[in-house]
Amino acid sequence: MDDSCAVCAETLQWVAYGPCGHREVCSTCIIRLRFICGDSHCCICKSESRIVFVTKALGNYTRMINDFSVFPADPMEGQVGLYWYHEGTQAFFDDPDHYKMIKAMCRLSCGVCDKINDLRSEGSKRKGEFKNVELLKNHLFHRHGLFMCSLCLGGRKIFFCEQKLYTKAQLDRHTETGDSEVDGSDTERGGFNGHPMCDFCKIPFYGDNELCMHMSTDHYTCHICQRQHPGQYEHYNKYDDLENHFFQAHFLCKDEDCLTKKFVVFATESEIKRHNAKEHGGNMSRSRRNIALQIPVSFRLRRSNEQELHGRHGRGHGSRFDAADNQLSLALQASLDTATVERCHNTSSSTQEVFIRQETNELETIEKTPGMNYNKNQPSLHFRWLKVTGDLEMVQKD
Ligand SMILES: [Zn+2]
Ligand SMILES: [Zn+2]
Ligand SMILES: [Zn+2]
Ligand SMILES: [Zn+2]
Ligand SMILES: [Zn+2]
Ligand SMILES: [Zn+2]
Ligand SMILES: [Zn+2]
Repeated sequence: MDDSCAVCAETLQWVAYGPCGHREVCSTCIIRLRFICGDSHCCICKSESRIVFVTKALGNYTRMINDFSVFPADPMEGQVGLYWYHEGTQAFFDDPDHYKMIKAMCRLSCGVCDKINDLRSEGSKRKGEFKNVELLKNHLFHRHGLFMCSLCLGGRKIFFCEQKLYTKAQLDRHTETGDSEVDGSDTERGGFNGHPMCDFCKIPFYGDNELCMHMSTDHYTCHICQRQHPGQYEHYNKYDDLENHFFQAHFLCKDEDCLTKKFVVFATESEIKRHNAKEHGGNMSRSRRNIALQIPVSFRLRRSNEQELHGRHGRGHGSRFDAADNQLSLALQASLDTATVERCHNTSSSTQEVFIRQETNELETIEKTPGMNYNKNQPSLHFRWLKVTGDLEMVQKD
C-alpha cells in the first residue's frame, strides 16, 4: 500500500474512509471534500459514504471497520461511546486529539468581525460562527465586500477561518499570478504563483496535483509517450486529437473494429504485426495496407525490395515480414559483443521513439548488403535493434 494520500500526495498520517473501505486518502482531504464541497463520495470508487471513520494510517495495520453499523445511528457532536463524532462532516474519530484538530479546522467565523470584536471588548470569547461555508461566504460578501478563494478553501491545509480574504480584483490577481501585492512575500506565499489553469477548459485548479487529476480524467494523454518520456508528454483535449497523434507518431491499428474500440495502438512495428496476426488473421486489411503506404519512405523502399525478392513465391504479407525479422535476428546474433550489452544498460528508454525511426533505415542497410556484413563501426545501432526487437532481456541474461 502506498503511504501517500491519493488526493494531495502528502504522507498519510490519518485516513478517513467509508463502508467501501478505501483507505488511500488522508483525513483532511476527506474532511475538506465533505465540509467545503458537500461531497461525500469515496475519492477512489465514488460510492457514497454517509459517514466516515477517521483513524491513524498504519499501512496494513490501519484500523479496519468492516461493519459501519457499529456506529450509533443518531449521534450527537462530541464523545459517543468509544468514538468522537464530528457533526459537520458526519465523521467518527477514534482519537480525541485528531477530532479536536479537525473540529477547530472546521470552525467558521468571519475574520473581519472577529478582529472588530477583539478590539471592542478585549477578552470577550464570543465569536460569531457560521453553520456552513456558504453562510460565511454570504456574510463576507454582503457585509464586507470580500471573497475567499474557493480553490484555496478546498486545498490549502490551514484552518478555514484563517483563509485570506480578497476584494474581487485581488481575488482575480491571486488566481492568475498570486503576486506579492495580494499574497505577501515569497516566503509568505510559499512559492505560490497563482492557480494552474487547464488550457482546454480555461478553469483554474488548486495545484498541479488537481490539474493533473483533471487532465487524466477529463482529457487524454498518450500512454506510449508517457512511458517513453515521463514528465514531458502532451495532453490532448478530445480522443480524436489523441488518435491523430497515435496515427502520426506510433503504430495505430486502422482496422474499423479496432478504431471503434479505441487505444489499439503500438509502440513498435513488431507489436502491431503481432496484433495483426492474432486479431486480424495475419491478413492486412485494406485499411492496414493504407497505413503501410503512409509510413516513412525508407520503409516503403524496403518493402519494394522484398517484393522483388520474394514476391513471386506468393507468400502472404505476414510471413514476408517475419522472414525479414528472422534474417535480422540472425544478423544480430552473429554480431553481438559485450560492448553492445554494456551500451544497453546505459541508454534510457526515453529515446525509444528515435530507435524506431532508425530501425527502418538500418533494416535497409542490412538487406542491401550482401552476406549481411554488419558494420562493426556502428555498435550503437546493434543496440537500437535489440531494443526494438525485444531481445534485450535475453541478451542481458547471457
Ligand atoms: Zn490528502
Ligand atoms: Zn471507495
Ligand atoms: Zn464579518
Ligand atoms: Zn487560491
Ligand atoms: Zn480541462
Ligand atoms: Zn505518443
Ligand atoms: Zn486491430
